[in-house]
Amino acid sequence: MKLSTFKGGVHPPENKKLSSAYAIEEAMPSTKTVVIPITQGGAPNVPCVSVGNSVAKGQIIADGTGAFSVPVHASIAGIVKKIEPHLVTGNTEALCIVIEADGTDRTSYLPPLDPFSCEKSAAIERVRQCGIVGMGGAAFPAHVKLNVPADKTIDCVIANAAECEPYLTIDERALIEDADKIVDGLAISMYLTGAKRAVIAVENNKAYAVENIEQAIAKSGSSNISVKLLKTKYPQGGEKLLVKAVLGREIPSRKLPADAGCVIQNVGTLIAMSDAFRLGKPLIERALTISGGCCETPKNLRVPVGTLIGDLIPEVIKLKPGVKKIISGGPMMGFSMMNAQFPVQKNTSGVLFLSEKEVSLNAETPCIGCGNCVNACPCRLTPVMMMRSVKAENLDAAIKYGLLDCNECGACAYVCPAKVRLVQYFRLGKMKNREIMEKNKANAAEAQKGAK
Ligand code: SF4
Ligand code: SF4
Repeated sequence: MKLSTFKGGVHPPENKKLSSAYAIEEAMPSTKTVVIPITQGGAPNVPCVSVGNSVAKGQIIADGTGAFSVPVHASIAGIVKKIEPHLVTGNTEALCIVIEADGTDRTSYLPPLDPFSCEKSAAIERVRQCGIVGMGGAAFPAHVKLNVPADKTIDCVIANAAECEPYLTIDERALIEDADKIVDGLAISMYLTGAKRAVIAVENNKAYAVENIEQAIAKSGSSNISVKLLKTKYPQGGEKLLVKAVLGREIPSRKLPADAGCVIQNVGTLIAMSDAFRLGKPLIERALTISGGCCETPKNLRVPVGTLIGDLIPEVIKLKPGVKKIISGGPMMGFSMMNAQFPVQKNTSGVLFLSEKEVSLNAETPCIGCGNCVNACPCRLTPVMMMRSVKAENLDAAIKYGLLDCNECGACAYVCPAKVRLVQYFRLGKMKNREIMEKNKANAAEAQKGAK
């Protein structure tokens, strides 16, 4: 059978066997304390608890008022000890609520809700109230994605189980351990978006899991959910590439999957949606892969959101000496962290402890103009010219070569013989472009004020 895929892309060593056979284990931080960032996707939140408050598991502790706001909940029952900035993924600081467990398991969940018999607006609000965001990495608010604008038609929901990043195996475990909930979440997503069908997209290195998911589909009685095997290639899980491989459609430049008639949901997000309706349970736990050559005990874990990775060492995560890099996420798109004292967030799919052998420590050398990066780019951009334009501070040219269509997948940097830090240049270029846009907006507002 010919497998669907896209042009370009790369084949880094998969390294999934390190953890893929291990069932998801429940774990708690040794300190019995969680550090929960107040915003984890969507518009900025503000805390709605104070130091000294007693909170139940599942209680909202931070929220916002905008249409893109997604609340954050206490992931354990306890006392709010501090509200202060803390290291988070990205090596930056963010305001966090620190909760110390009180030894009880008091919960504050919502009552179950039947998504198929309540008002659609109530169902969309349930998704928001339960704090559901895209768990594949982007943390985009799920209620916004499911609330399809009147001028758009969705005909297909794609469940993203491609999991193309090396080492990560948490979506793979979800296909084995939670297939019923994935199918339930898909049925709910189809109903809310009006889609007539759904496709579960799986890379063929996980083909063994298809039988299990097909059994769950058969059990649900649904005839409009199918499974599609895709060629194992990085970055197959990227939205544009997934839509192309599954539906043969192009998402237009700087547009969303909805502009190509589809909605994409990570399988973890679908499980969280099922729990939100069937159990009234907010998104307060996160399943993630712990792996890498310096990890003595690669595994898949489920921990409360806000668990500091450092608080799982050494009781749950045992390390070998010689850790050269700690990565939050996968090795291609994840963030290299300064230490392990950062919290698991709703979109943390894995944490890697890499050895010297697994990490490219080679210094950047001048570009030799080989063109490898152009051939590897799945989005058909010109990375070398984007990089040169950013370096020359010519943002207009960088945008012309595709800067704003770059998904930062890192395939170009992976094949670069000169080890040029291409993605870093692209992030810098995008940041400068954002600054210019914001400045222009502020100047226009000032000018408008002056004209009145
Ligand atoms: S230019 Fe962007 S989209 Fe293309 S390979 Fe590089 S990081 Fe990926
Ligand atoms: S792959 Fe590296 S060396 Fe080759 S053209 Fe691209 S940036 Fe230059």
